[in-house]
Amino acid sequence: MPSVAKMRGMQWMVEISAPSNDVFSERYARIAAGLEASPSVANWRAAFEDWDDLRRTWKSWSNLTRLRYSQDTRRDDYRDAQAALDKRTPHMTALDTAMKQRFLTSTARRGLEEDLGAHAFALWDSDVATFDERISNDLVREAELAREYTELLAAATVPFAGEDRSLGALGPFLQDGDRDVRHAAERARWTAYAERAERLDDIFSQLVTVRDRMAKTLGFASYIELGYKRMRRVGYDAADVARYRDEVARVVVPFATQLIARLGADAGCDRVRFWDEGSLAVGGPIVPKGDRAWTLARTREALAAIDPTLGEFVDVILDRELFDVDNRPGKALGAYCTIFPTRKVPFVFANFNGTRADVRTMMHELGHAFQAYRSRDKVAVDYLTPTLESAEIHSMSLEYLSWPHMEKFFGGDADSYRREHLLEAMLFLPYGVAVDHFQHLVYGNPSATPAERHEMWREVETLPAVARLRRSRPSAQGCRLAGKAAYLRRAVLLHRLHARAVLRAAVLGAREGRSRGDARCLRDPVRSRRRSVVRRFGAVGGSAQSIRSGRARRRRQRRSRSVLIAGSPPATVETTRTSAIPLPRSASASVAAK
Ligand SMILES: [Zn+2]
Repeated sequence: MPSVAKMRGMQWMVEISAPSNDVFSERYARIAAGLEASPSVANWRAAFEDWDDLRRTWKSWSNLTRLRYSQDTRRDDYRDAQAALDKRTPHMTALDTAMKQRFLTSTARRGLEEDLGAHAFALWDSDVATFDERISNDLVREAELAREYTELLAAATVPFAGEDRSLGALGPFLQDGDRDVRHAAERARWTAYAERAERLDDIFSQLVTVRDRMAKTLGFASYIELGYKRMRRVGYDAADVARYRDEVARVVVPFATQLIARLGADAGCDRVRFWDEGSLAVGGPIVPKGDRAWTLARTREALAAIDPTLGEFVDVILDRELFDVDNRPGKALGAYCTIFPTRKVPFVFANFNGTRADVRTMMHELGHAFQAYRSRDKVAVDYLTPTLESAEIHSMSLEYLSWPHMEKFFGGDADSYRREHLLEAMLFLPYGVAVDHFQHLVYGNPSATPAERHEMWREVETLPAVARLRRSRPSAQGCRLAGKAAYLRRAVLLHRLHARAVLRAAVLGAREGRSRGDARCLRDPVRSRRRSVVRRFGAVGGSAQSIRSGRARRRRQRRSRSVLIAGSPPATVETTRTSAIPLPRSASASVAAK
């Protein structure tokens, strides 16, 4: 196991600490007493700075604790520190909530808004609705479940190609040029999930239960409303999000469906399978032309070439080793960027696996990091990151700003990388909104069983593209990885919309084809999809009763149909996707998951 000294960036952060809960309580009390001394804006402004300093101290220490834990989930000291942090967090949230209430109701508010900006107050207004001391135990339990999930997947290994490998280490095989290797790697990956299906389902069920209870304790109708507030969604609401989902279904999905049909035909492939996804762009994998150190050196060059400001920034990150990108046993999956406000630096966490994703991930996380670094002197800790969703503007922008420099990484394959990247981004939209819709169903129906949740996901999956794909017959000879393969790659990517569930069904032997609902979806994607989902589960936020009556009907309809569903849709607990309802990370955690 790596020692603390050997962990990247630790020499910079190892001495970050935080006072005890009692000391924090005493300092908050002192600030509150000071506020009583005078209602003047100057007095409140000075007190705000003291409060903000305390928040920066707490955030630096808590983010470092989370980082260490995700760097090695097997270390007892890191796990114990994370558990202690999770236990302490409700106490700190209580102190902050009370302070936010004071500022929200202060007679000095208008004057403070001129200086601090009204947005901080809008965020606090959202925050204060998400906490009450009565949900403290539930918050601790929620964090425990999140740790169980993280550790379950971090510890998962699968025997493949003569070695036990972590899920992250399967990456290169999933993009191998040999179709059989890719298929075997996907089988290994999803078998690992299937073997843990019961545990994953149990964690998921408990999370839904605990979140629903928290929401109701706080006076919300369901966790959906609380989830929006915890995401700090200020300025837009569920109706806006629903409209966005429908626009994606109306515009993007039909376009993608046509595209996949045409490009698939051009490439002479009767049917593209999900295990073809990772390697067809140029008839084989697109990989960086060097190792990790080489990729980081090219990253330094690329950012400096875009702009000197980015060059100075990337020097800070690389020279101070404010990154940990090595894939190791016991390390949490995924990628994220976190910040240390008292040190005024960000930190990039990732799992390189030698594929093209390393470059995209690095650019993405450095985009978050650059935003955080440039925001380091903002007046309020609330402004160091622009909330989880807006944060993606910066990260995805750097992915594209770095396009002209992709030759540095991929040489003659750079064009393929760029085409594929653009398509991946476009095709993520249907996948992203599908997850969002699914989560609304889940939290609107908190008493649903795991089997019913699986069925919900399958319903959400009933989109035209997938229906069309499933109706086409598998090709006996497979796909030819020839001249037209780059186009084929675009077609394959569409499959990613629903890759996980489709993949699970295929790998684990579910039968091909779908119910009659698919044909309706093909005619009118938006309306049919909504009808189909509503018919089975009730409207988003529908009652448990509507679910149960639908359940009985479904059982009758599908009596003869045997579909093996193993494991809950991993997307619902995956920490590397932005989705409608927040994942179990504490609101004050990292800048943003990838
Ligand atoms: Zn991101």
